[in-house]
Amino acid sequence: MNTLLPTSIVGSLPKPAWLAKPEVLWSPWELDGDTLVEGKHDALRSAAKEQERRGLDIVSDGEQTRQHFVTTFIEHLEGVDFENRETVRIRDRYDASVPTVVGAVSRRQPVFVQDAAFLRQQTDRPIKWALPGPMTMIDTLADHHYRSRERLAWEFATILNQEARELEAAGVDIIQFDEPAFNVFFDEMKDWGVATLERAAEGLRAETVVHICYGYGIKANTDWKATLGAEWRQYEESFPLLQRSSIDTVSLESHNSHVPIDLIELIRGKKVMLGAIDVASHEVESPEEVADTLRRALQFVDADKLVASSNCGMAPLPRQVAFEKLSALSAGAGILRDELARVPA
Ligand SMILES: [Zn+2]
Repeated sequence: MNTLLPTSIVGSLPKPAWLAKPEVLWSPWELDGDTLVEGKHDALRSAAKEQERRGLDIVSDGEQTRQHFVTTFIEHLEGVDFENRETVRIRDRYDASVPTVVGAVSRRQPVFVQDAAFLRQQTDRPIKWALPGPMTMIDTLADHHYRSRERLAWEFATILNQEARELEAAGVDIIQFDEPAFNVFFDEMKDWGVATLERAAEGLRAETVVHICYGYGIKANTDWKATLGAEWRQYEESFPLLQRSSIDTVSLESHNSHVPIDLIELIRGKKVMLGAIDVASHEVESPEEVADTLRRALQFVDADKLVASSNCGMAPLPRQVAFEKLSALSAGAGILRDELARVPA
């Protein structure tokens, strides 16, 4: 990519109200059968066009064809019972109804590859596709078969690698793995979390991203954030390991968070996808605020390695608010791009 400070969302965008109930997670579909398939594609096309129209340089699917960023992938695997769901505590924080692993897991068919090929037809810009990371997957299900988080994570890493290679073949330029669990389970992350993530990304020519965050703007997350104190130093645990890893880009929260900006120094050399849009607030950032957030990071990351992004997924936001935030992101990156162009080299 030649653009300096390219812009990209992290993952989800709100779905149209005719497709799924707005502003909730795990929102049930409003359509079924062939109409649902067609509706998902219409929403995917519309999300791609909206990102282009708002000036985003990297186009994502906005998760328009999936109910949830983790459980939808898991539900497509063999060995998983997704009808008999169970309520478990996820991310050590909130209860969710999740699928159950009842036998050996495998991927009989591609999960998102057709959707990615469809997205590829909608735009000439680079496209990014997000998959859940292995550790976040095992933290979003009930396991009655392996009874070992590590063993199951390695199984998922192999499956994710199969899916990622086919996404790449379908024309996906950037493959992202979402690992919010890296901000919670530090011992497991050190023992096998980063290793399983690298296994998931093994052999890819596509650019690879790991997204680590403090979650959607839902109450359980804002309550948790209130307990984290004045400085959020969770990234201090993952960044040194990721700096030494094979992953190309690290996606992190910044704007309106209490993450000390100098922690980015710990991933020096990697590309940084910096959250300059708060997904936990309905207030739309001004372009100047976005530019300020990005400018502060430039002490710790070279400009040609900085990607302007949102803090996390936007699924729970009102649609118009999310779209206006996309425009603010583009305009803010534009301000800084112009500034950098004026500085004599
Ligand atoms: Zn996130």
